[in-house]
Amino acid sequence: MEKCDVLIIGGGPSGSVAACKLLKEGFSVIILEKLDFPRFVIGESLLPRCNQILDDNGLIDIIQDQKYMVKGGAIFINENKEEQYIDFRKNLGQKWGTSFQVKREEFDNVLLQSAQKLGADVRHGYEVLDYDNEKNQITAKDKKGQIKEFEARFVLDASGYGRVLPKLLDLDIPSDLKLRNAIFTRVKGEFRREGDAEGFIDIVIHDDNQAWLWVIPFSDGTTSFGVVCEEEYFKKTGLSKEEFFDKVIGEHSYLKEKFKDAQKIAPVGIINGYSAAIKKMTGKGYALSGNATEFLDPVFSSGVTLALESSNKVAELISKELRGETVDWKKEYEDYMMIGINVFREFVYAWYEGKLRKIFYTKNKSEIIQKSISSILSGYVWDENNYFVKDTREKINALAGMV
Ligand SMILES: Cc1cc2nc3c(=O)[nH]c(=O)nc-3n(C[C@H](O)[C@H](O)[C@H](O)COP(=O)(O)OP(=O)(O)OC[C@H]3O[C@@H](n4cnc5c(N)ncnc54)[C@H](O)[C@@H]3O)c2cc1C
Repeated sequence: MEKCDVLIIGGGPSGSVAACKLLKEGFSVIILEKLDFPRFVIGESLLPRCNQILDDNGLIDIIQDQKYMVKGGAIFINENKEEQYIDFRKNLGQKWGTSFQVKREEFDNVLLQSAQKLGADVRHGYEVLDYDNEKNQITAKDKKGQIKEFEARFVLDASGYGRVLPKLLDLDIPSDLKLRNAIFTRVKGEFRREGDAEGFIDIVIHDDNQAWLWVIPFSDGTTSFGVVCEEEYFKKTGLSKEEFFDKVIGEHSYLKEKFKDAQKIAPVGIINGYSAAIKKMTGKGYALSGNATEFLDPVFSSGVTLALESSNKVAELISKELRGETVDWKKEYEDYMMIGINVFREFVYAWYEGKLRKIFYTKNKSEIIQKSISSILSGYVWDENNYFVKDTREKINALAGMV
């Protein structure tokens, strides 16, 4: 039986950032990661709030050194090729007004290696199979199929889509968001914008928003491209995912032009029903962070931001508890996280209901409303000075009603 202060399940951004913080506090950390790195995972467009958390944890320099594409914001493009820019630099005064477009196989690897350099004992090829909550013991299977046992003072589940503790402890509940598909690939050779607009993410509205598409440009000239729609919308076409992709591009005047000379350089992948929700985020001796908690929707690229925010907060609270201080997990962690998650949730609902599109495409918005929207879409969803952070739904509805 191997022992440590904190055992982290999963070496994604959530696990790595929590590890870095805990190691700096002097705790011993083992990270069990099922896969060998680098490994692919979806979710390549980051928000400025990520930069702030990386900055707070001494990780921003190493990420800046990677020369990733700088992301200054998002461009929404409708069926008539009308463009609406959300410039993250025009925010409510927050320090970070840009972020990065990253290949996650590279970004996650850099973060995990940073944790390793700080002293994390990283075990690749270790798949967590079981958890004894009474003894705080973890059972894992290594690459050779051998069973290994670990005991920790605290277990953090950062297993993302693996959802290890939610499955083992029966914590999963159905998401209140609709079942949607994401179909994606990588391309090269598409037409790009000039200057710093090259790094913006495109969010392309198709067929009265029955589908929307992301276009995420990387600094090596390749691009991530994906379509999101309700499962039924895809199924009723009767097409394969490759054919569906080509059909959507062919039908959209902006995409048809943009991808005229582009070639696919990766197989077309699909993820069904990606949204997930949870009964609770913590229990005696354990907590969940990142995608192992709640995942909403990719439309505002909030996933990695929420993963980093939760791991930053959870690591602070684990340190506190392990030093013998009392932690009110419900108030200090769950309630805190739900403030930001719920702001994004309302924005996601309003996006699919068409209200946000209406607001985005209204020309005479006041400067403060524009900056408030930009700050929310930058991931500053805990900023109580932002108009949209309290009573989000009512405020979006009121604004959509007015325009
Ligand atoms: C279609 C789609 C598009 C998205 N686009 C974006 C985007 O543009 N921007 C954004 O910020 N987010 C996006 N996301 C969300 C993003 O993918 C996640 O929020 C993010 O990866 C969460 O990070 P994490 O560290 O929590 O988990 P992950 O990055 O999933 O890391 C978890 C790690 O745990 C490991 N693991 C799993 N099971 C086990 C086990 N049993 N034992 C040991 N290890 C295990 C995995 O191998 C993995 O390495 C998107 C999601 C979807 C579905």
